[in-house]
Amino acid sequence: MNISHYLQKEKLNKEDIVFLLGRTEPEELDQLYRAAYEVKKECVGNVDYYRGLLEFSNRCIKNCCYCGIRRGNRQVERFDTPKEDILAMARWCYEQQYGSITLQSGERQDEAFVDYVEDLLREIKSIGNGALGITLCVGEQTKETYQRWYDAGAHRYLLRIESSNPKLYKTLHPQDGHHKWEVRKACLDALAEIGYQVGTGVMIGLPGQTLEDLADDILFYKSQNIAMIGMGPYVVHHNTPLGKKVSEAGLDSPEERARRLRLSINMVAVTRLFLKDVNIAATTAMQTLHPLGREMALKAGANILMPLVTLPQFRNQYQLYDNKPCLEDGQEQCRNCLSARVASVGDTVGWGQWGDSPHFFNNLK
Ligand code: SAH
Ligand code: SF4
Repeated sequence: MNISHYLQKEKLNKEDIVFLLGRTEPEELDQLYRAAYEVKKECVGNVDYYRGLLEFSNRCIKNCCYCGIRRGNRQVERFDTPKEDILAMARWCYEQQYGSITLQSGERQDEAFVDYVEDLLREIKSIGNGALGITLCVGEQTKETYQRWYDAGAHRYLLRIESSNPKLYKTLHPQDGHHKWEVRKACLDALAEIGYQVGTGVMIGLPGQTLEDLADDILFYKSQNIAMIGMGPYVVHHNTPLGKKVSEAGLDSPEERARRLRLSINMVAVTRLFLKDVNIAATTAMQTLHPLGREMALKAGANILMPLVTLPQFRNQYQLYDNKPCLEDGQEQCRNCLSARVASVGDTVGWGQWGDSPHFFNNLK
């Protein structure tokens, strides 16, 4: 069957999704990405929104096998960003009309951390009278904690499910009782119950991951009623158990990386076709595998960019994977560079707007 047959279908089923995700021919990919870009224009507009991404601490109690700042990586010097610096960056984002800020860190669940984040949220909220939208991305917490942070001003939360397949999830995490798929899923449910706009996502091109798994990931976004999606290729970090395994098996070749990037862009396109009015991020990991990775994602239906506003002196210590780009850039450079990228694909930037996903509000109607 020809690809246009699938692209004209009113509703895609799992087999259709698998078919589309598996396309590799340049002409077919071109058709797929064009169709997804049309849906983007129609359902969310060809306006891309910025979320200043502030990675404020790399302390983490978890030991995910893929991640460069996992607890077990003793080569990383741990840091906390002083509160005044976080607030200064938030103010900078506000002045630059970024519309919103994303606070990301390793996972901590101790009371001092919970209090600290709560305080921080209230202070950021006071900037410009609550003008700045705030997304949190600080891992698994109790429902009470999520509620406290919501009450303090966070209104979006990003927690990737990493894979919707619990068996695959198991292979990526230590079996120490602290890395449970069911817990992560329950966190997503709790966040939605509280009223957050919930974001999730997966890593793409993981060892052992099939096209069926990826199709299930997209179906998972739908069944969880997800408003925002942040997904990207798995990228090797040299000092992690998974990174070592993948490199030793010869699975980090240029061909393999290109495959993971293609699969990631296909995921963006098919997610746009299937879910239509959600926010989808063009993630930094895509650019790690190709200098134009993020432009490719915007062209295939993504509409969110996350310019780094992490303090330059800490960027080196927040490397979840190898070859993370923009380590040398200051926040000014990230701003200008991304604006040029947006213009190059024919989109505009939604300056000063929160850019909430229409899905969240369509859903409340
Ligand atoms: N600690 C929080 C937030 C920081 S990690 C949490 O885990 O939710 C944010 C995301 O980085 C993770 O969800 C994971 O999907 C991604 N990540 C970590 N290591 C990665 C790697 N090697 N390649 C690609 N993405 C990675
Ligand atoms: Fe910690 Fe998040 Fe990395 Fe897991 S992915 S080790 S929770 S920072």
